[in-house]
Amino acid sequence: MKPTRPGLATRCAHAGAPRPADGVNAPFSPPIVQSSLFALGSAAEAEELFTGKRPGYAYSRFGNPTVERLAEAIADLEGGAGALVTSSGNAAVLCAVMAALEGRRGPLVTHPDIYGGSFELLQILAEVGRVPVQTVEATDDAAWLAAVAGAGAVLVETPSNPLMRLVDLAATTAAARPGGAPVIVDNTVATPCNQLPITQGADWVVHSTTKYLNGHSDMIGGCVVKREPLTPANRRIHKNLGGTVNALDAWLVLRGLRTFPLRLAAHNRNGAAVAAWLRVHPAVAQVHYAGDPAHPQAGIFRRQMAHGGSLLSFELRGGAAAATRFLDRLRLIVHAVSLGGLESLATRPAMTSHRGMPPEARARAGVADGLVRLSVGVEDLDDLLADLEQALATD
Ligand code: PLP
Repeated sequence: MKPTRPGLATRCAHAGAPRPADGVNAPFSPPIVQSSLFALGSAAEAEELFTGKRPGYAYSRFGNPTVERLAEAIADLEGGAGALVTSSGNAAVLCAVMAALEGRRGPLVTHPDIYGGSFELLQILAEVGRVPVQTVEATDDAAWLAAVAGAGAVLVETPSNPLMRLVDLAATTAAARPGGAPVIVDNTVATPCNQLPITQGADWVVHSTTKYLNGHSDMIGGCVVKREPLTPANRRIHKNLGGTVNALDAWLVLRGLRTFPLRLAAHNRNGAAVAAWLRVHPAVAQVHYAGDPAHPQAGIFRRQMAHGGSLLSFELRGGAAAATRFLDRLRLIVHAVSLGGLESLATRPAMTSHRGMPPEARARAGVADGLVRLSVGVEDLDDLLADLEQALATD
């Protein structure tokens, strides 16, 4: 009988666990190898290591056993052949963009409503590095697919942060294929529990592991997953851009992965319930949630996502003033940036994560000054709704 692949919960519960090569009595939780360097042995042994004839480690920016365990676990979750771990989500986007563009002609094609930090990073690449970046509205099918067909590489964020717009992954990867443009998908918001971009034809997947994969709001990290095996050229870019993670932070993500599907089930449940509750609240003008049955791109959602997740944004009838008042009145939900932790967080993207975007770019992306983003945590739903109710009350 052909062995069946263990399910996601099983693989996560065993993330980083010992392999047969680790021998008997190996620790079940992987050691945190907190060392910058590794003894090279004799000159002949060092030569074997550096020429790849013998596996091993020389320096933790080039490779580290704890970090490698995490790379294997995340590659497995996303269905990729390999992964590179980075010191932040932004470092992951940079690494993937550089690797995808290597040897290619044509612009990096992306859409305007990506995470503010990614937007600023691409702006720096364009201004300082002279990397051609073409920003096209992904909801304009004809313009988007034409740009993708002529791209050097494509960077997609779906659902996008904070407007929860979707990009059709199957259509995008099909349009990119004839011209050979690698498609990078930022899967931070959806996570591999809710969306698997490689099954939709994506070449690269990036994450801010700071968010749901770690899930405990206690480290900053990222990773880059490749559908095909990583090449020496890919590894060269990763190691020399320098955004490698330290062993302790890699270990924290491995620890977070153990409970990832359990956390996501709770996030998904609360996210859908809070979105539905907000939708009918008289103070709320509009809710943006990927899993909303009335989402304008519900057809794309059904084709590529298993669940809407727990990130949403909404606009209040009272605009920016009402948003400020709402944030000031919150008692349980924390007014803070970031997302994907156990605790619920609320923020105004125009004042925080998207503040570095020029106002006209923010307007083009649809990020209104009064927009509130909510990362719904795993608290008891009644407690969350009670806090939202009192913060929205107009007494
Ligand atoms: N991608 C998305 C979708 C994000 O939301 C973020 C951060 O919020 C990043 C990338 C960047 O991640 P980091 O803050 O870990 O660099």
